[in-house]
Amino acid sequence: FSYPIPANEPVNSYAPGTPEKAALKKALADLKKKEIDIPMYIGGKAVKTGNKVAIHPPHEIKHTLGYFHAGEEKHVNQAIDAALKAKDAWTAMSWENRAHIFLKAADLLATKYRYTMNASTMLGQSKNAYQSEIDSTCELIDFLRFNVHFLSEIYKQQPVSAPGMHNRMEWRALEGFVLAVTPFNFTAIGGNLPTSAAMCGNVVVWKPANTQIYSAQLFMRILKEAGLPDGVINLIYVDGPTIGKVCFNHPEFAGVHFTGSTGVFNNMWKVIGENIAKYRSYPRIVGETGGKDFVIAHSSANVDAVVTALARGAFEYQGQKCSAASRAYLPDNIAAEVKQKLVATLKTMKMGTVEDFSNFINAVIDEKAFNSITKYIDGAKKDKKAKIIAGGNYSKKEGYFIEPTVIETTDPKYRTMCEEIFGPVLTIYTYKAADFEKTLDLVNNTSAYALTGAVLSQDRAAVELATNKLRNAAGNFYINDKPTGAVVGQQPFGGARASGTNDKAGSMLNLFRWLSARTIKETY
Ligand code: GLU
Repeated sequence: FSYPIPANEPVNSYAPGTPEKAALKKALADLKKKEIDIPMYIGGKAVKTGNKVAIHPPHEIKHTLGYFHAGEEKHVNQAIDAALKAKDAWTAMSWENRAHIFLKAADLLATKYRYTMNASTMLGQSKNAYQSEIDSTCELIDFLRFNVHFLSEIYKQQPVSAPGMHNRMEWRALEGFVLAVTPFNFTAIGGNLPTSAAMCGNVVVWKPANTQIYSAQLFMRILKEAGLPDGVINLIYVDGPTIGKVCFNHPEFAGVHFTGSTGVFNNMWKVIGENIAKYRSYPRIVGETGGKDFVIAHSSANVDAVVTALARGAFEYQGQKCSAASRAYLPDNIAAEVKQKLVATLKTMKMGTVEDFSNFINAVIDEKAFNSITKYIDGAKKDKKAKIIAGGNYSKKEGYFIEPTVIETTDPKYRTMCEEIFGPVLTIYTYKAADFEKTLDLVNNTSAYALTGAVLSQDRAAVELATNKLRNAAGNFYINDKPTGAVVGQQPFGGARASGTNDKAGSMLNLFRWLSARTIKETY
């Protein structure tokens, strides 16, 4: 079964007057009308614990979207048992039939559930219509279809045979279960981490961030409707430490597929290391973690292109993308014009609820994020090395709103130039245009992360220099574009250093991690 390279799912604009906009508005209204009760899914069964936790839209915290049933230690064990029970039949199922399930889920997302999924991401994660379309629906559809394609290519990889013998590679799944731990910021990542492992024949325990449960549970129901057998993916809402305690102590633990913070991922490595003798095999540890993503403009850069890269790169989805631009290096010949145009652009970006489609900026995800981001802003207000040139105001009265904020600093190692903030805060440092090469070293050495970065330049030699000198500073490097918005199949995504294991989401590299091949030689 060979599945050709799919086309990327076309993206709706939701422009005024379009039927898509009306359909999405209706989906939003329908979801807001009812409070839903959200069970965990273990072994295909809906599990309600009675320990209900309310879900509120981050931009409208007085409204309740529903309640999820939180689980505890025994549910982690039940999820592992259910996964292991499903394992033999799932592995024995033909690859064609497995692929069919994920392709059907992609089609259901593209048609029947398109607007409900968008609306769920919009309400649950405070992401505007266009960003939700890209990341909840289209990117998830792309992950499913492209991964089926990539896997069909991997399965074709076979060794050579010789007279009297036949050699083959059996692309087995891992032995045991895989744990998927997924973040709030991309519904598509929430869907990709469990399904990419499952597609390869693995069984999965899936723990989404509490702040993504509202859209995660819908995807789980779509998978069920597409025919995913019971127990292949088990969705549980249990706190991280309890999940870690049970899963990382289990002899059948085969690997973890993670997107989240560097601190949590580092801790996973440690605990897994301490328990290494308990496992049947060496676990696969795959993670995408933090970023401190840069934009560097050369003196030849087109000013408007720099402004767009910063405005969109730093502030789409309130800067809550691992890939978001958060430190900018501007040459002194264009810095003043870039800043002036950027500040003017930010003034045109409206902030408010997701239901008003003209709002570009919505709320940050929760109170914890709000407090941590605003601490950086308050720090900059007091610090002599920093000056706020746009935004700086915030309020959590209706929801967790923070204005897009630009800090200017004279210190290239100022706190907000180095630390991940994960919010709508961009820091700008101006360098002498003649010091471009020296500034590239600064870009490379300022942060421990290496996820994304961009250079803007109309001078080919400067582009070459930046591309070479910043070889290890970013896993996704953009020339004359913003550093966000990687498209599945077009820009495989991931970074090294403190940003993760760089097993490129949406590529063969990632899928190889969920396979453990057996070489079979048969003589005759
Ligand atoms: N793939 C996303 C992008 O290119 C970022 C994913 C993330 O935030 O983890 O913008």
